Amino acid sequence: MFSIILKPGRDRPVKRRHPWVFSGAIDSVKGNPEIGDTVEILNSDKEWLARGAYSPNSQIRVRIWSWDQEEINEAFFQSRISSALKLRESLREDTTIDAYREVHAESDLLPGLILDRYGPFRVVQFLSQGVERHRETILNVISQLGDTEGIYERSDTDARLLEGLRPEKGLAWGREPPDHMKIKEYDLAFWVDVREGHKTGFYLDQRQNRQLVRNWIAGDVLDAFCYSGAFSVAALRSGARSIVSGDSSAPALNLTSENLTLNGLQDSDAEQVEADVFKYLRTCRDSRRQFDTIILDPPKFAATGSQVDKAARGYKDINLLAFKLLRPGGTLITFSCSGGVSHELFEKIVADAALDAGVEASIHVVLGQAADHPVRLHFPEGRYLKGLICRVRG
Ligand code: SAH
Repeated sequence: MFSIILKPGRDRPVKRRHPWVFSGAIDSVKGNPEIGDTVEILNSDKEWLARGAYSPNSQIRVRIWSWDQEEINEAFFQSRISSALKLRESLREDTTIDAYREVHAESDLLPGLILDRYGPFRVVQFLSQGVERHRETILNVISQLGDTEGIYERSDTDARLLEGLRPEKGLAWGREPPDHMKIKEYDLAFWVDVREGHKTGFYLDQRQNRQLVRNWIAGDVLDAFCYSGAFSVAALRSGARSIVSGDSSAPALNLTSENLTLNGLQDSDAEQVEADVFKYLRTCRDSRRQFDTIILDPPKFAATGSQVDKAARGYKDINLLAFKLLRPGGTLITFSCSGGVSHELFEKIVADAALDAGVEASIHVVLGQAADHPVRLHFPEGRYLKGLICRVRG
C-alpha cells in the first residue's frame, strides 16, 4: 500500500472534497509509489481521507479518485462513466443535438478525463497521469458503451506537459472518423474536423451561448476569433445584415465558409478575414469602420494564475477597441475562457475598457459554459468560461 501523509492543518481542502492535493501540502510519501499508482491520503493524525492517483512530476501531486474505500478498477470507471452519461441524457435539451460533452474531468469525478460525443464517434483526452495509467481499461469501457463506431484520441494538448506526459493523438479504437463530420446543433449544422480541429474539434462549451446571443444580434456584425464560424452562422440566422468573421487560422476560415454554405447562407453579405484580431481591430478603428454587434471569443490568454496580469492586458485591449468600434446602441458579446481570470476580474476589465473607450454600457446577460460542462461545487476551478452581453447607450 502506498500512502501520502499531509502536513498538519492541510487536510481541509480534501475534507471539503476538493480533488487536488498540491505538493506543498504533503509531509511524506510512504512505500515508493510510481507514476500513476493509486495512493491513500492520510492526515497528520493518520486518519484515512481519500484515495487518488500519484503524479510525482506535477505540482498537483495527487488527483483524488474517491472519498470512499473503493477499488480503482474497470468497475469503478464503468460506474463513473455511466453516471456521467446518465446526467447528459437528462441534460440534453432535445434530440437536435448530436455533439456534446459526456465526461468533463474533475467535474464528473474523473480527474483528467474528457470524453466528447460527435454523432457516432467519440473523442477522448487523457490529461493526467491517473487516467493515462488506466488508459486501456477506460478505452475498453468506452468501446462497450454502444453507439460508437470509433474512438479518436486528442491528447495533443500542452496541459499534458504539466503532468510530465507527451502530447499524443490518433485512432484509439474502431473506425477512423472522416476528415469532415457533420454535427447538428438545434437548427444549425456544422462541419467538424475531430482529427485536426481545435480542442476535440469544436467549441461545444459555447453551444448554449450561441443560442442565447441570437436575441441580441443585429445589423453589421463582427465575429472576432471566429474559428469555424459557429457564432457567424448563428448571427446570420438571427437576422444580421452582414458579417465579418476574423481569425488568424486559414483552415478555420475555410471551415467557416463551408459552414455558411452548409446552413444555406452562402449568398449572405459575409466576409472572412485572415488576420491578427488585435491588429484588425486597430485597422477598423483607423478606417472608422463600425459595427452594431461585436463578438469577442479569444483563445485562453491565461492557463494559470501566474499569467493573469498579461491576460488582463490582452482582454482590456480588445474590449476597449471593440467598444470604440460599436455604433451607439450597439452590443458587445465578450468572453474569457482563461481559468486564471475570475468572473469578477473579467467584469472589472470590461468595465475599465468601457471607461477608457468613453462609452456608457450595461451588462444585460451573464454567460457561462454549457450545462454538459458542469462545475462541481467543490471544484470552482472547473468554471473557466465566462461571458457578458453588454449594450452601449444609444
Ligand atoms: N468562437 C469560436 C471559438 C474561438 S476559439 C467558436 O464558437 O467556435 C479562438 C480562436 O482564436 C481560434 O480559432 C484561433 O485560431 C483564433 N486566434 C488565436 N489568436 C488569434 C489572434 N491573435 N488573432 C486572430 N485569431 C486568433
